[in-house]
Amino acid sequence: MCAAVCPVGAVTVDERVQPQGLKCILCCACVKNCPTGARILDAPAIQKIREWLAADFSERKEPEIYI
Ligand code: SF4
Repeated sequence: MCAAVCPVGAVTVDERVQPQGLKCILCCACVKNCPTGARILDAPAIQKIREWLAADFSERKEPEIYI
């Protein structure tokens, strides 16, 4: 199922389901369509973005005006 939804053909299926890291564009289609939750996205880049968002955007900020 994940190989069928991958837009760049980055998942091969034979005896095992294997993602090909260099082809993957991190679109998360395979993660969203996995009916058993077996697919996860555990890329270091995703973790960095998650930490950045949590640190910088966890609170609402008032708009600032510069003249
Ligand atoms: S996250 Fe990567 S492996 Fe999964 S569907 Fe998108 S391109 Fe393919």
